[in-house]
Amino acid sequence: MLAAAVAPARTMAVVKANAYGHGAVPVARAALEGGAEWLGVADIAEAHALRDADIGAPVLAWLHDPGADFGPAIARDIDLGVSSLGQLEAVADAAASVGRTARVHLKLDTGLSRSGVAPEHWAGTVARAAELEVAEHVLVRGVFSHLANTSPDEDAAQLEAFEHGVEQARAAGLRPELRHLASTAGALRLPATRLDLVRIGIGAYGIPPFCDGTTAAELGLRPAMTLRARVAAVRRVEPGTGVSYGHTWRADRPTNLALVPLGYADGIPRQASSRAEVWIAGARRPVVGRIAMDQFVVDVGDDHVATGDEVVLFGDPRTGAPSADDWGDAADTIGYEIVTRIGPRVPRRYLGEA
Ligand SMILES: *Cc1c(COP(=O)(O)O)cnc(C)c1O
Repeated sequence: MLAAAVAPARTMAVVKANAYGHGAVPVARAALEGGAEWLGVADIAEAHALRDADIGAPVLAWLHDPGADFGPAIARDIDLGVSSLGQLEAVADAAASVGRTARVHLKLDTGLSRSGVAPEHWAGTVARAAELEVAEHVLVRGVFSHLANTSPDEDAAQLEAFEHGVEQARAAGLRPELRHLASTAGALRLPATRLDLVRIGIGAYGIPPFCDGTTAAELGLRPAMTLRARVAAVRRVEPGTGVSYGHTWRADRPTNLALVPLGYADGIPRQASSRAEVWIAGARRPVVGRIAMDQFVVDVGDDHVATGDEVVLFGDPRTGAPSADDWGDAADTIGYEIVTRIGPRVPRRYLGEA
């Protein structure tokens, strides 16, 4: 769906961080089936994991530890993002040592001030890259940058800085086939930033990239992850009964409490204690008291809930359940962090899988 929306730009599905908690290999396969041509990851180990699963599609890894081992990545046709002259030299040396040409994407810092070659070092970096191309140690397949998503004007200024950087690269003799700048937010709201390739992360998981309350449905997105549990215990309590550590919540009436066996060890943010809601027995119900490592409590009032009943912590809000963004609001964070932190103790099941 997104791949078609951004065409003719090509789509890279960003599957870093275990595909934002969803599972890198199944997501990578589904994304390639869904029209993505590229896969993007942060570090090289994540790229190797895709190759280990026999995924042969183009993969770009862009964030490297000092001393990263580039040789095996080059040998496995993993494209490398390069953010400094030092990295460029290290990649070229590694390519020479494995007898291959490294395919690199040079990253220009256009204003996010994280990684990327600083503008004042860009001319020198592209000049050196051109020499290393002649020596066949590297091939500059792409030039890229990343938007700060601060405002349309500031993003437009980054686009301009990026285009200037691409001109400098061309003037140095490079012929980058792929210019890429936009992640989900830019791809959806600033079509001019789509260029040759867009790097789609959060949108592929059906979660809005914006913090302004725009819903998934408004963007035509459907959340991929539904986090479910089963009620592990139910109890009836009297007014005044304190719940969970520190008794930060007390019942003010006789009520039924349901115990949900997920906690902060599973990525449920403790910050959302007494703030988030979950879907149980046909309604949204409040989390009450402290979220603990393995469990939390929900107040279901006088409604009947039984052990084994399904609880939906978040999913597609069109079903009535909270969204990952609702949990983000309850925990002073964003939907990205909510899904990405769901821990390994929670089994993933994929729809359409036996
Ligand atoms: C994570 C990341 C993306 C994807 O961003 P979304 O907002 O999830 O679409 C794209 N590019 C880079 C460099 C990233 O680190």
